[in-house]
Amino acid sequence: MSATPWLESPILRADPELAALVAQAVAVRANAWAPYSGFRVGAALLGESGRVYLGVNVENASYGVAICAERTAVVSAVAQGERRFRAIAIVTDAAEAAAPCGICRQTLAEFALAEDGQDLPVTLVSLNGAVTRLPLSTLLPLAFTPRSFQVRPTQRS
Ligand SMILES: [Zn+2]
Repeated sequence: MSATPWLESPILRADPELAALVAQAVAVRANAWAPYSGFRVGAALLGESGRVYLGVNVENASYGVAICAERTAVVSAVAQGERRFRAIAIVTDAAEAAAPCGICRQTLAEFALAEDGQDLPVTLVSLNGAVTRLPLSTLLPLAFTPRSFQVRPTQRS
């Protein structure tokens, strides 16, 4: 078996840019701090600028403090001034490609479903080769977003 079976998936074979994003998520996953669950997650978030923001899950001895890879990537991007995104790749070693938790779906929706017509493609990858791609709106239908308010967030530009 290939050392990178996920690269053999039809989705990634057809999209080298996405495969490169997944490769970054695979690489950064090694930095995950998951001594309690042993469940390492890597995320790579592609900004509209073309810049990539990486994230890993970071657990804590006080379990409730843990934060997911998807949110660390979003927080890093926003801290660096990027608020619009073209894609996210999320990598685990689960038997099936694992989907983001509810909090991460909501965090992504804040930026990735905020405007009419926006819908972030989410690529879920298992190191065993399982690859799925679906829009964020499928993961979080009827999302509560800034559009749910009658006013726009004052800091959005
Ligand atoms: Zn999460």
